[in-house]
Amino acid sequence: MKILVTGGAGYIGSHFVDFLTKNDNYEIIIFDNLSRGNLASVPDGVAFKNVDLRNKRALEEAFQEFTDIDVIVHFAAFAYVGESVENPALYYENNVTGSINLASAAVNNGVKYFVFSSTCSLYGNPVKVPISEDESVKPINPYAQTKLMIENVLRDFDSAYGMKNVCLRYFNAAGADFEGRIGESHDPEPHLIPLVLQTALGKREKIFIFGDDYNTEDGTCIRDYIHINDLADAHLKAIEYLKNGNNSDIFNLGTGEGYSVKQIIDTAKKITGIDFRSEIVERRAGDPDILVADNLKAKSILGWNPKYGLKEIVLSAWNWHKNQKF
Ligand code: UDP
Repeated sequence: MKILVTGGAGYIGSHFVDFLTKNDNYEIIIFDNLSRGNLASVPDGVAFKNVDLRNKRALEEAFQEFTDIDVIVHFAAFAYVGESVENPALYYENNVTGSINLASAAVNNGVKYFVFSSTCSLYGNPVKVPISEDESVKPINPYAQTKLMIENVLRDFDSAYGMKNVCLRYFNAAGADFEGRIGESHDPEPHLIPLVLQTALGKREKIFIFGDDYNTEDGTCIRDYIHINDLADAHLKAIEYLKNGNNSDIFNLGTGEGYSVKQIIDTAKKITGIDFRSEIVERRAGDPDILVADNLKAKSILGWNPKYGLKEIVLSAWNWHKNQKF
């Protein structure tokens, strides 16, 4: 089976590719423009094409070079909420125009299945937690808007052209592969776990806790952190699901367990054996109190079961971070 992975040099995409290479049944092709990905994350022997999804002609040429693709797993996107608020044009162009170009090229080239990286942030401030797929969608930032728009595009492309899709709504992707080869590094880094570990390493003076007046037990925000390998596994299960002739669908991917910012910091202190400073500061705009997945649908329909908890997430991320030079 031929799988095209867009954004395969990025954080989540490269872990998925790593996962796929352990299985001989798949021929992998990566499209990535390396604007935020890292070529060093692409394993030897995997086909790679530097292509920007916004460039329709380059994309069409890439599809002529790599033919008979069975499934596209589409990770390539910008994913910083704050940046999307400051520069929505960048997000609509990259995440929406790029994805529409890709989905159109997929249809034109006879691709049957499409797996899409979506996000729990399109639930906005959810009414009910744990959040199931029945929760209404009401994005509160341009990033989440772009993801919802593409979910809708894919639904219409299924109705009109019969391209089946699975939209996977990720909660907080975190952790690194257990061999410590690839991990999470963004520039600038907005995410809690990498920032906490960089603080433990002395690369930052302290970790700022964005608000301790939330409606949670210790006052800090609660999130559902999911190990990158569990996410990768869910994508494979989504591909199998589509291959078995099932209908397009949407699944939440989270562990169902929530941890507060303070709990993350305490866990990191225990795992690293390093004490470091933290400071409570103002809330960050747009952070809901609690985001935890109801993952029963993915468990029952995809047969997916997340294996890793917070300890494995922080430990694997730590093993990677402590070997980074930057
Ligand atoms: N957070 C924090 N300090 C930081 C970075 C993040 O307190 O330096 C909080 C943030 O407000 C949120 C949680 O940690 O409640 C997870 O944030 P992250 O950016 O990792 O993921 P998000 O939930 O925004 O996707």
